[in-house]
Amino acid sequence: MLCPICNGLEQLSVQCPSCAMQTDDLGRAVDFTAPYAPYQPDDDEATMTISGAELAAITCNHVVYCRLCQAVFEASVQKWP
Ligand SMILES: [Zn+2]
Ligand SMILES: [Zn+2]
Repeated sequence: MLCPICNGLEQLSVQCPSCAMQTDDLGRAVDFTAPYAPYQPDDDEATMTISGAELAAITCNHVVYCRLCQAVFEASVQKWP
């Protein structure tokens, strides 16, 4: 599994959920959250939903920035097999 954005195979094109403007890719979310634990501890819902570790294996979270809203948010990129 590889992320086409991290490997320069595709341009990340994510629209801002607030204003629908094209956002800028700031890089991988894990680079932003490095000081923190990569996933949350298991809770009661963990058995009902896909776990964070499983999700991380198939998606790559990128941090994007909207210049208009001056807001930063995360976008999940589907990895290529
Ligand atoms: Zn990536
Ligand atoms: Zn915006």
